[in-house]
Amino acid sequence: MRFKKMLASIGLVAAAALALSACNSGTPGAPEGETDAGTGSGDTSSAMWEVAEGFTLEGSPTFDTIQERGKVIIGVKEDQPGLGYLDNVTGERTGFDVDISRWIAASLGFDEDQIEFKPIASANREQAIMNGDVDYYVGTYSITDKRKADIDFAGPYFITGQGLLVRQGDTDYQSLEELEGFTVCSATGSTPIQNIKENFPGIKTQEFDLYSACVESLINGQVDAVTTDQAILIGYAAQDPTNLMVTTGPLLTEERYGIGATKGDDVLRAHINELFTSGGSIWQAIFDANLGDSGIVIDQPKVDAY
Ligand code: GLU
Repeated sequence: MRFKKMLASIGLVAAAALALSACNSGTPGAPEGETDAGTGSGDTSSAMWEVAEGFTLEGSPTFDTIQERGKVIIGVKEDQPGLGYLDNVTGERTGFDVDISRWIAASLGFDEDQIEFKPIASANREQAIMNGDVDYYVGTYSITDKRKADIDFAGPYFITGQGLLVRQGDTDYQSLEELEGFTVCSATGSTPIQNIKENFPGIKTQEFDLYSACVESLINGQVDAVTTDQAILIGYAAQDPTNLMVTTGPLLTEERYGIGATKGDDVLRAHINELFTSGGSIWQAIFDANLGDSGIVIDQPKVDAY
């Protein structure tokens, strides 16, 4: 019960912070009844969206590749509960990002058994897309100008901001300022590690490829806090509330998640943007199925079709 209470309070803080930081479109939520259409896992996804039949996408080199190959290769995270997660025991992939990626595949005419998921760490995303190792990437991937030099983004489809994760009951650090002289962990190649290095030179940093390695180090006492997007941190705290808690400090940045796509494939990008724009009730169903209990409250952001 205590954990539930803590989660609820995290949720409130997250909700308030998101409400403050997000430039939302005010898109109305799904009508009642549509939101319980599925649990977000592979077996029920068809209840939330339909697989397009006889679909073609003229002028998209990525779509041509996918069609020739007969399957979609999607870059994902698999150690971020609630967003992009692989249960190693059941083999089941769950999470808001994973379902968004399935919905996109379905819109292109590809069902679950025609999807190959490839785990790609934060630092390797642009290269994987540029190499053609993945057809598109969906995994807490913030839209930034620097990344736009190498790849394109559809979206945004979600907005969060940089927060802090500490050991349960550790009230010493509520903000990055209070971590001067201490060690903070984040993922290599991520926006939060870059933010610390550029703006908080007094903080010692520890980097790993995966956030789950940071979380392990936090629990072991090797680092003092983990920083990344609040939505990611909430997932870790919910999974292990005995050991972890998200701080109540304000969010430090605004992170707008986009779908990473090959640079110049404007047709695919326009297709995904149109899917997001016209599929508000499906977006809401995916959100409710995966993050409905997380305490995160956010409207679908308006697509920025640059
Ligand atoms: N959204 C941030 C980023 O794209 C942090 C999360 C991540 O590393 O995936 O860098």
